[in-house]
Amino acid sequence: TLSDRLADTFKNLRGKGRLSEADIDATAREIRIALLEADVALPVVKEFVGAVKDRARGEEVSGALNPAQQIIKIVNEELVTILGGETRRLRYAKSGPTVIMLAGLQGAGKTTLAAKLALWLKDQGKSPVLVACDLQRPNAVKQLQVNGERVGVPVFAPEAGNGVGDPVSVARASIEEAGRKLYDVVIVDTAGRLGVDAELMQQASDIRDAVNPDEVLFVVDAMIGQDAVVTARAFLDGVGYDGVVLTKLDGDARGGAALSIASLTGRPVMFASNGEKLTDFDLFHPDRMASRILDMGDMMTLIEQAEKTFDQDQAMKAAAKLSGQGGEFTLDDFLEQMQQVRKLGSMSKIMGMLPGMGQFREQLENFDEREIDRIQAIIQSMTPSERANPKMIDGSRRARIAKGSGRMVSDVNQLVDRFFEARKMMMQMARGGGMPGMPGMPG
Ligand code: GDP
Ligand code: MG
Repeated sequence: TLSDRLADTFKNLRGKGRLSEADIDATAREIRIALLEADVALPVVKEFVGAVKDRARGEEVSGALNPAQQIIKIVNEELVTILGGETRRLRYAKSGPTVIMLAGLQGAGKTTLAAKLALWLKDQGKSPVLVACDLQRPNAVKQLQVNGERVGVPVFAPEAGNGVGDPVSVARASIEEAGRKLYDVVIVDTAGRLGVDAELMQQASDIRDAVNPDEVLFVVDAMIGQDAVVTARAFLDGVGYDGVVLTKLDGDARGGAALSIASLTGRPVMFASNGEKLTDFDLFHPDRMASRILDMGDMMTLIEQAEKTFDQDQAMKAAAKLSGQGGEFTLDDFLEQMQQVRKLGSMSKIMGMLPGMGQFREQLENFDEREIDRIQAIIQSMTPSERANPKMIDGSRRARIAKGSGRMVSDVNQLVDRFFEARKMMMQMARGGGMPGMPGMPG
């Protein structure tokens, strides 16, 4: 996965307080591979990675994130933007029934989706009707009728039955029927071919002209990968559409088709179909799809938490101190840093989300959060000048501090040692990159 590969890349990244060209290149390479593995079309990958690199170069350095995390955050934001940002909602007609027409290849999942969408609309208090305009495939009408029955939504079909009749007349008649019976949403299911062809496009256009849809939805199987782009283009030219529905997202497709189609057509993905059951359906969520494409697991959650929690000012202060400006790193800073870490939540949970952190797992499982309270008690028993200058804490001071905090002298000794250790480690990290918020972790 991308997380695994980035974990390796992380090792070479150096936090110099700025994203270096080498850092950007290394991460961009991994992202490029991840996108290609997710079946995103090559021209889309190229353009996308280029845009990410441009943005990464201009980016302010964040106190909470290391360079790789920062680039991932940019990637995620760009993905979400291309995928439509916010979920695009259906546009309902201002008067009369809302007409939704489905188009796509045979087997894309249109008929299944028609019923799923009808059920979803019904649950929102609408009274939809399904219209069978696939008169091509034997049993297509029957399939819609069976599905309609299962979701309790009426189906409008040609009286002649399967395989006969003119889909355009059926489509036209269905609008009149909706007016008569006060259905407020008309869902028009259409025929597909195994491949794109002129006759299919013509029929779909004719149906479109007959019903004047409020929304034409292009239904596409997420599993067809790279071919999705060709099909999406053909339907855009041949019929045109307002939004995209991705089906079969329950399969192992990583969803690159969503990005390719959205990027190349500028049409938002509106719904996601993810299973054979008629309830396996939801609005499309660009942010979730972005994580799926990147295969980042909980990485984004972690990044968000880290950003929310990490106090920027504090980070600046600490960084300044470590780089020799703004005075020395003190026990007060040490305590503050540990409290920041705690704010992030349970340490072991957090570390589990980070790629490449498996090596620390054992250490973390033994991490006792009450330890921070004990450390806090000891530090707070010190005078301000002792905290600012821990070197002055001699034997008699240690005894007094131990008494004041209700700890043993050995605890105080250990803390002071640990502080000097942490300060040394932080100086190295400040010079050589690494994770923020980690000093003070007892080892
Ligand atoms: P149409 O030719 O576009 O109308 O496609 P259908 O609705 O008939 O679906 C074709 C096949 O794909 C059927 O076997 C469906 O059960 C299946 N299918 C549709 N949507 C999904 C989905 O989201 N997940 C899975 N696993 N199968 C689906
Ligand atoms: Mg069908």
